[in-house]
Amino acid sequence: MKSSIFTAPISRLKEFNNLFIELTEKNCNQRCKHCYINFPLSKKVKDFIPIDIIKKALNDTMQENLQCIYLTGAEPMTHPDFNSILRLCLKRCNVCICTNGSFINEKKARFLKRVEDESNFEIIFKLSIDHYNEIKNDDIRGRGTYRQVLNAVKSLVKYNFNPILCITNYYKEDKNILLAEFKKICDKIGFETMPHNFAINECYEKTKQIEINSDKWESLDCEYGRILTTKGIYTCPFLSNDHRGRCGSDFTDFSDKTLLETSLCANCIKNKNLMFGINFTSFNC
Ligand code: SF4
Repeated sequence: MKSSIFTAPISRLKEFNNLFIELTEKNCNQRCKHCYINFPLSKKVKDFIPIDIIKKALNDTMQENLQCIYLTGAEPMTHPDFNSILRLCLKRCNVCICTNGSFINEKKARFLKRVEDESNFEIIFKLSIDHYNEIKNDDIRGRGTYRQVLNAVKSLVKYNFNPILCITNYYKEDKNILLAEFKKICDKIGFETMPHNFAINECYEKTKQIEINSDKWESLDCEYGRILTTKGIYTCPFLSNDHRGRCGSDFTDFSDKTLLETSLCANCIKNKNLMFGINFTSFNC
């Protein structure tokens, strides 16, 4: 008799290289159309992770081969202790700030360079921008965001940072065209780019249930890392604070297995490669 029970593929943590830390679950100054976070109506949510939880996590993961700590959110730079957290994490390994760029101007970039110079590791930036056309970008991310992020890029480049532009392919356009047009914009502002300066991801459709119809992928974020939030440990930023991605309360005892059963997982599988982590083999930082 044919079984109708659906068996979801399983992913296992192959190596714990990426530690994501959610500095705030809901606090963001933007409301992008494609964001997977369900925001409260009020923009004034103060749900910042206490620094002691981060200190404990860094201690508990001492034996892991961490390559990069990712400061994520919502918008991580809204955390009131952002600078202390950054310095703390830089004692351990490279730190990637995943930001919308709105808190970065020349003064901040100069300060961040000083912080990096005090450390043996690097600060990497992943900046969100979704279209090379200002009107199309601002339609997705909000008015003025295009100029803000390009200003952030210019400021970072001035202080010798080498940011990665994270592009969500909201309009489902040809990736080669997107890359070529983004390259032109970067050339105009004096940012010499290589292919690894762009990370284009498929757009997650919030309301559409996508079925998992393949167990083939190159790499998934849940195979190379975990995310720490105020509520515990989860498989990846997509499933942070979602019971389906729960791995445990802290890093002394957490699950290394994940059942790929959500439509977010289907999106990752469709994307084939890491959506949040950096592929360091192609990025010579
Ligand atoms: S959403 Fe993606 S990274 Fe997260 S558990 Fe599913 S497949 Fe893994």
